[in-house]
This record gives sequence, C-alpha cells and structure tokens, in this order.
Amino acid sequence: MSETRSEPHPRVVIVGGGFGGLSAAKALAKQTFDVTLIDRNNHHLFQPLLYQVATAGLSPADIASPIRGIIGSQRNTTVMLAEVSGVDTARKEVITDGRRVAYDYLVLATGARHAYFGHDDWATFAPGLKTIDDATYLRRRILLAFERAENETDEEERRRLMTFVVIGGGPTGVEMAGAIAELAKRALAADFRSIDPRGARIILVEAAPRVLTSFTETLSDTARRSLEQLGVQVRLGAAVTDCSCEGVRLGGDFIPARTIIWAAGVMASSAGRWLGAETDRAGRVKVRADLSVPGHPEVFVIGDTAAATAPDGSMLPGIAPVAKQQGRYIARALIARSEGRTAEVFCYRDYGLLATIGRSRAVVQIGGLHISGFFAWVLWSVAHVYFLIGFRNRFIVALNWAWSYITFQRGSRLITGLYARQLDDMRQPERIEPRSKAG
Ligand SMILES: Cc1cc2nc3c(=O)[nH]c(=O)nc-3n(C[C@H](O)[C@H](O)[C@H](O)COP(=O)(O)OP(=O)(O)OC[C@H]3O[C@@H](n4cnc5c(N)ncnc54)[C@H](O)[C@@H]3O)c2cc1C
Repeated sequence: MSETRSEPHPRVVIVGGGFGGLSAAKALAKQTFDVTLIDRNNHHLFQPLLYQVATAGLSPADIASPIRGIIGSQRNTTVMLAEVSGVDTARKEVITDGRRVAYDYLVLATGARHAYFGHDDWATFAPGLKTIDDATYLRRRILLAFERAENETDEEERRRLMTFVVIGGGPTGVEMAGAIAELAKRALAADFRSIDPRGARIILVEAAPRVLTSFTETLSDTARRSLEQLGVQVRLGAAVTDCSCEGVRLGGDFIPARTIIWAAGVMASSAGRWLGAETDRAGRVKVRADLSVPGHPEVFVIGDTAAATAPDGSMLPGIAPVAKQQGRYIARALIARSEGRTAEVFCYRDYGLLATIGRSRAVVQIGGLHISGFFAWVLWSVAHVYFLIGFRNRFIVALNWAWSYITFQRGSRLITGLYARQLDDMRQPERIEPRSKAG
C-alpha cells in the first residue's frame, strides 16, 4: 500500500492482545489504517499451555511473548499498555486509566475470566488458571503442599495436604489433573524422605456424566481411562456444593483437601457492559454475522467475549482458533469496507479438537479422524509447538518436552514469591490475596 496520503487513515483501536486481538492487528499490518493495540499486560499469552507452567513443566517466558516484540515493527501500529474501563460509543472513544483513545473502528477482544456460578467466595479456596500470575500461584501452592506434608507430623493433615482436587472435566481440568499426577508419581517421586509423593490423591470432579463433553463419547471414555491409569480418581456426575480451606463438598460427600483448582466455568469480560449491548448468560456480546454489535456497525466483538453463531445457529466455542479466525476476518472486513465493498459474513472453519492426558497420551478429533494414545500426543505436541509465537519459544518448549519425555523430570519446580505471601496460607486462606481476574 502507498505511504503517501492526503487525509488521515481510519483509526482502528483493538482492545486485547490475546489470540483474537493480536491476529487482527497482524492482519492489518501494511494496510491503510492507523492501528492502536491496547492491553493491560505487556505480553501475549499462549493459554493452552498454562497448565504446564502451573505444574512446573515450563517456565512463564516459554509460553508468553512481549506484544511489542511481536508487532513492534509494524509501522502502522502503536502498542499501549493500559487497562480499559469503558467505551463512549457516542464520542467513539475508549476509556483507559488516564486517558481517552479515539477510534473510527473498535475491536473488543478482551477474553474471559473464571466464573464460580454465583459463589465468588470460592475463588479464594479454588483458584483458577487464566494468567501467568495464576499459573505461578498454583505452582507455588502445589509444590508447597508437598513441602508442608514432608514436615507435617499429623497423619490426617498430611493426607489433606497430599490431596489435590481439580474441579471441571473440560480440557483444562483433564490436562491439569493428568499433569499433577505425573508430577507427584514421577518427577517428585524420589525427592522426599518423610512422604512418598506417589501416594498423593488427585481427584477430578465433573458434574456431567463424562469428561471432555465436546469430544465423542468414545474419546471421552478413553480420556477417563487414561487418567485413571495415571492414578487420577475421576468423580463424574458430582456437583460441587461448597469449597473451603478444609476441602470440597459434593452434596453429602466431603473431600478433605488443601489444594483445590477451579477449571469449571468462564464468564466473558466486561465488554458487554461497556457497550450496553445485549449479552448471553455467560456475559458474551450477541454479535451480528459480521461480528459487529447491533446498532454500532463500527464496533466489533470477537473471541471469548463474543456470542457468535455458526450458520446452523450453533454457538461457536470459546477456543483459540475461533478467536484467531475472527481476528483475521475483521481485518478483511475493514479492508473491504475501506474499498467500498461489502464483506462476506464470518464463517468458522473447524480444524478439530485436541486434549492431552499426561506426558505421552492425548485424544484428537479432527472431522472423521478420532485417535488417542501416543500418536495423538505427537499430533497434539506438534500443533502446540507450531502455534506458539516465536522461534525461541518453539525451540525451548520442544526441547523441554523431549527432555522430560526421556527423564520424567520437570525443570521448573521453583517455589517463588513465598515470602511475599504467608507461609501458612493453606491453613489460613482468608489471608491469601484474591486471585487476579482476566477479561
Ligand atoms: C487454561 C486454559 C487452557 C486453554 N486451552 C485451550 C486449548 O487447548 N485449545 C484452545 O483452542 N483454546 C484453549 N483455551 C481457550 C483460549 O485460550 C481462548 O479461547 C482464547 O484465548 C480466546 O482469545 P481472546 O482473544 O478472545 O482472549 P484472550 O486470549 O484471553 O485475550 C484477551 C486479552 O485481553 C486483555 N484484556 C482483558 N481485559 C482487558 C482490559 N480491560 N483492558 C485491556 N486489556 C484487557 C488480556 O490481558 C488479554 O491479553 C484455553 C484457555 C485457558 C484459560
């Protein structure tokens, strides 16, 4: 495109440098738009591998990249580190901490956060996994549980410390439970003297009758059996009725546990409230077929924050490929508009579903191809390394996985931030700071 211009280029403001926002910004490089990408974090995060940071398999920098490093060389793009708190649609301005940013087109890609189904007080006892801070916090709690069990003389308390409950049998819960089991039964097995980490109880709780409900019944059954082979107890059809520092209640049943991990539900970011737009029960903005907001053709909502439907009326899932394709679509739609053309409607191309269980098994569902076991895991690994951003991260992650595959080791077993928080936070969780909320 030509660099000479007689009038200013249209201003595109993108809020969120996650999968959706970043792919929109990248697709607008070299186009005749002035792009501003705003994010409250300075990095893009590859959330699908967060559970590996939480279970000491990878380090935070392996799965996150500075946004400026990714798109800093795009001459038409400005990156802004700021928290957006509202949108003034009448004046076409985004409201951030200290200033207003004017737009001609606005793309909201602010993701989602944990949802506790009306029990926000559970967040203290059952932290979720959404950000780097969440992952390092969980890593600290998991590793600290073993350290405290090693020094504990009371048998009941030791058992409580060595019980880990993961709530939610979707991909995150399944991956988390499998990874904790391997951490306990392999990587930590020989590290302690008073306890045997292999005796740790890992319990996965799911309210539905099966795990991985978006997969076929056969694959979800395979995933359950793989988890059980790793030593995970899978409790299906069990709804959580209470969480406390003492454990988890499932109706009349109580599981004493000091470490509880929430992987059960998400709520969209506040974008719907900022716009005063109609949202669904999960807070997602109901968008039109071109992903614009009804009544505001210049405002688009994409990714986990959007309630977008497929042509058959089914709701598109909150997964990375949807957000990325929507981001790229927005760029095409804006280019079409600037050329006086009407953009085609957004159409999601489904490339399938993948989930891993432990270090060498996975389930893969791509169209009619349904596979599980080692080859599925190889496919899962290749896909995840491929989609990571940056050669360094791809190389380090592949090397890490090869190393831990051969040695069973987990190199990132660091307990950090210990003295910044209370050493005894497991006994007095009311002293734990509330977890950060994304979205
Ligand atoms: C633990 C975990 C595992 C997952 N595993 C998979 C998987 O295996 N496969 C898969 O396809 N999907 C997976 N997902 C889902 C996938 O990560 C999301 O669907 C995807 O990230 C959505 O992209 P997005 O752009 O909508 O939001 P995000 O990628 O979440 O990005 C949102 C961005 O907006 C920024 N932001 C939010 N609020 C504000 C604000 N007020 N001001 C400024 N910036 C703001 C955030 O900092 C963030 O950078 C997983 C998610 C999680 C949490």
